[in-house]
Amino acid sequence: MTDVWSNWSGWVKAWPQNLVTATTEEEVVEIVKTAPAPIRVAGRGHSFTPLVESTGTLLTIWGLSGIVDHDDTTCTARIKAGTTIRDLGPKLFERGLALANQGDIDRQALAGAVGTGTHGTGGTLGSISAAVDGFRLVTADGSILTCNATENADVFHAGKVSFCSLGIMTEITMKCRPIYALEEDGGRMPIEEVLSKAEELRDSSRHFEFFWFPFAKDALVKFLRETDKEAKPRRRKPDGEMSPGDKTMLRACETSRLVPFLRGPLQKFLTASSGSRYVGGSEGGGKVRWSHDAFPSDRNVRFNEMEYAVPAEKGPDCIREVGDYMRRCGLNFLFPLEYRYVAADDAWLSPFYQRDSVTISVHQYHKQPYEELFKGVEEIFRRYDGRPHWGKLHTLGAADFEMLYPRWDDFRVLRRRLDPTGKFLNSHLKRIFGES
Ligand SMILES: Cc1cc2nc3c(=O)[nH]c(=O)nc-3n(C[C@H](O)[C@H](O)[C@H](O)COP(=O)(O)OP(=O)(O)OC[C@H]3O[C@@H](n4cnc5c(N)ncnc54)[C@H](O)[C@@H]3O)c2cc1C
Repeated sequence: MTDVWSNWSGWVKAWPQNLVTATTEEEVVEIVKTAPAPIRVAGRGHSFTPLVESTGTLLTIWGLSGIVDHDDTTCTARIKAGTTIRDLGPKLFERGLALANQGDIDRQALAGAVGTGTHGTGGTLGSISAAVDGFRLVTADGSILTCNATENADVFHAGKVSFCSLGIMTEITMKCRPIYALEEDGGRMPIEEVLSKAEELRDSSRHFEFFWFPFAKDALVKFLRETDKEAKPRRRKPDGEMSPGDKTMLRACETSRLVPFLRGPLQKFLTASSGSRYVGGSEGGGKVRWSHDAFPSDRNVRFNEMEYAVPAEKGPDCIREVGDYMRRCGLNFLFPLEYRYVAADDAWLSPFYQRDSVTISVHQYHKQPYEELFKGVEEIFRRYDGRPHWGKLHTLGAADFEMLYPRWDDFRVLRRRLDPTGKFLNSHLKRIFGES
């Protein structure tokens, strides 16, 4: 037994025999050939599911970081797999490039984000994995495969979202776009108005999402619109530095944890104090940032999370039902639901495979139990044909995934071909793939 590894929320812990690090592709190959199985690679540990847990080898690749090169003509960049999205933004910017979309935070390693289908919001915009143009993969026998739409195309389409079940990515080529600035806008809006106008709101802006505390009558809508206005630099807070918003949220979480009947009033208070009523497209005045500074928020109050992607047209009914359930279930929770749009893609195990989707996320403060709350919500998601986020909590196994993913069997055949002895399978992945 060596050191303990823990994920961001603190709920997943691992005591691998071998906690190792690699800074080059050659070192990754050597580890794959010689280290005890199961071999799992960690990005930045921001998944809530035990994807990274290992009793054998747990590999970190923080040093495998940076841009290898870029191509202005194709607007692509070859990026080392361990680069965090946060480090990547300014490095791409220096080259006149940016990612087309990003999620709520930018702490993840690129390979970690790609591996689980991490996404932001935007009716016509895909996940981060959908922007992958190719990758280099170290497979179970130590071979290196170059994968893209023409070379090892099956591994490319299967591997874009594969959470280290096919091998270890050492380099990822991302489709980018020229740099762009975004202006933020938003405010409070009655939840029923938001839901009845959901498609209109989605189409009104490059990025639209909303947060909703189920006990509140208003949701908090947020828009990011592309603009030619001058972008102001943003000071990025170091790890752990709490913003005033984080501090308020932390106090509210602790209060509601200790005095559960205050959860409703606190949710109404947090909504009311989060801005003025939104009355339609603003004439400006919102913060203007370069895209890599505009997307990420600070998330310093720890939580656990479940998220499902449902067919886009079912989103409003689904979140209504989830909100009703959460108000009636009698369980204690404080965090808002989050509602986002993701365009369909073609990665075999992407939650957005051939389906324009709405994602709905449920969070629970990390000091409170989540199982019962998430169980009730998951039943609703499943009735709406939901597919879970691979990095967020769910209880599904192989039989369920077979029903959800048309290319499930093809993926399993490919996985067995690339890793016949199950070198990359920990107990969580064995459950997912139905392997003993
Ligand atoms: C505060 C917070 C906010 C979040 N916001 C969002 C959001 O807005 N949108 C969203 O979709 N998700 C979000 N997530 C979920 C998160 O983006 C995913 O779980 C993501 O996978 C975490 O990235 P990571 O680098 O921490 O990877 P890890 O969690 O460490 O690993 C994820 C998977 O990637 C695999 N992996 C890592 N490196 C490699 C490699 N080199 N080759 C092959 N496989 C590899 C791991 O083995 C694992 O299976 C959030 C999570 C947190 C904690």
